[in-house]
Amino acid sequence: MTEPQAATLSLADLTALVTDILHRAGFAPNQAAALARTIAAGERDACKSHGIYRIEACLRTLKEGKVAADAVPTLTVDDSAIVRVDAMGGFANAAFEAGAPALAERARALGLAALVINDCNHISALWPEIETLTAEGLAAIAMCPSYATVAPTGGSQPLLGTNPFAFGWPRPGKHPYVFDFATSVAARGEIELHRRAGTPIPEGWAVDAQGHPTTDPEAALAGAMLPFGGHKGSAVSTMIELLAAAMIGDLTSPEALAFLDMKTTIAPRHGELILAFCPERFAAGRSGDPFARAETLLDAIAGQGARLPSGRRHAARETALKQGIRLTAAEMAQLDRLRRHGLDAVS
Ligand code: NDP
Repeated sequence: MTEPQAATLSLADLTALVTDILHRAGFAPNQAAALARTIAAGERDACKSHGIYRIEACLRTLKEGKVAADAVPTLTVDDSAIVRVDAMGGFANAAFEAGAPALAERARALGLAALVINDCNHISALWPEIETLTAEGLAAIAMCPSYATVAPTGGSQPLLGTNPFAFGWPRPGKHPYVFDFATSVAARGEIELHRRAGTPIPEGWAVDAQGHPTTDPEAALAGAMLPFGGHKGSAVSTMIELLAAAMIGDLTSPEALAFLDMKTTIAPRHGELILAFCPERFAAGRSGDPFARAETLLDAIAGQGARLPSGRRHAARETALKQGIRLTAAEMAQLDRLRRHGLDAVS
């Protein structure tokens, strides 16, 4: 049999390939397709940490019996500002797709609305969800807990998750302004890479098991990561635990870690909170167009030579849509292995 070669795939072809891998491994079409759209978008935008690399974790989560492969999310909408989706133990991606149209409708009707997703597994970047809402002319905020790997500033034990936080602002005729980041200084995987390479981690990334600052990756992995920005990031991360876990009746990061039986190589189970704002409704009765005023500010930022968040991503997207998505021979071999062996390909 010939070894897979490096290849350039269209977004549609990569999405179909990832859908096929997930479907063959046991995911129902709705779960497989929604996950595949997000994973392929990660590759298109050169967000490798949330591209095809994530497929193995999806399969491991299924193999461990920690995700419902055939979950059909259930949507509850009333005349309030809160739209609810029960993910029924499936991935957040299908649940978000089920709830996003109602969230946008409620935000336009009321000015502000929230989508609460409960009982989902989460492994994705948040910007694809934010972009769905900015494409509707809405501003949006998304957040979710994770599993406990981060100590609060001044503490010593993992308690908070890497808790991602994302925001988007629509820019008529332009790519939206979007930022999306973990609230930890660095990802756990980055520390693992330093351990394998035998190199120290930068100061400020982690503490050891006694809560002392460390640059030793082994000690960091036995201890805890730190939030970004000291006490400020620690508070933002705590807010995410409060709003997107305690408030919505779902698992906090320590509870999510316990649900995983402490296995950190699979996707955690918890909830997610997404807020959508209709700028015209908020600006009603005030002078000035909110979108034009936003452009003045964003142009001034870029005018100083500062790059806007997501600029790198959108540049990568333009290249990928023109030239295709380039995957290495090793990546194609990995996709081939996952497609042929399904759950047997992961441990
Ligand atoms: P990064 O630090 O790589 O980037 C964060 C954001 O900052 C991006 O929007 C990025 O834009 C922007 N940015 C980066 N550098 C600059 C710069 N010099 N000037 C202006 N903007 C800049 O993100 P993280 O590593 O913290 O997170 C990566 C992803 O991981 C996120 O998408 C997050 O949602 C996801 N995540 C998911 C978790 C989950 O449980 N589901 C848990 C933790 C993280 P650009 O992309 O254009 O570079």
